[in-house]
Amino acid sequence: MEPRHYYKELQYSEDLLWYIQEETSLLGIVNAYFTVHGKKHSKINQEAKQKIYPNNKFFYNICPSHQNSPNLYSFYVDEDKKLFYCLGCGTAGSVFEFIMNCYQIDINEATEVLGSIINLIEANLLPEKLKEISKELKQHYGKQDQWIEKSKEKTQYLTTRVDTYLQRSDLENIDIRKTANRLCCSEEFIEKRYHNLLSQQPKEKIKIESIPRFQ
Ligand SMILES: [Zn+2]
Repeated sequence: MEPRHYYKELQYSEDLLWYIQEETSLLGIVNAYFTVHGKKHSKINQEAKQKIYPNNKFFYNICPSHQNSPNLYSFYVDEDKKLFYCLGCGTAGSVFEFIMNCYQIDINEATEVLGSIINLIEANLLPEKLKEISKELKQHYGKQDQWIEKSKEKTQYLTTRVDTYLQRSDLENIDIRKTANRLCCSEEFIEKRYHNLLSQQPKEKIKIESIPRFQ
């Protein structure tokens, strides 16, 4: 998350915003919003569809900022980095920007809504408009755990596949990009597994006869 000095109207501390961002599941909020309002952002008035990828990445076929073609899964949520990004229109940000944009509220209102969802702020004390937003999001928030679990399973499967492939390869001459293409995953992922395997390889021992001796 970028420092929020550019929100001149910000009334809360940046620490509080960081805390809320850490404690909130962006996936949970995105999913709750799409469950209620997804259809209106779809070109063909269809419910949002989601694809689960390894490493806590989730792609949707709708976007709150533009009318997406239903077959393109261009809006994605990176739950680990706590950021969303749309490959179609370029809209991006954290959970704060997501609900500010979706509900046309400011940074303070977004802080209050999210704070109430994670039970940091008493929802009943919020103004009526925010109370409604909080209520509808909270109603569908919390279902993300099952998808996070599925993503974890996919990560484990992919890890095994990549590790098996790498163990059979000549690690010294491996082409990361080609390997990524072949195994249909990101170069970043291959690189991570590659370095992990290298660090596990036993160091070659020096032969006793090659050590210089005193005459
Ligand atoms: Zn978009």
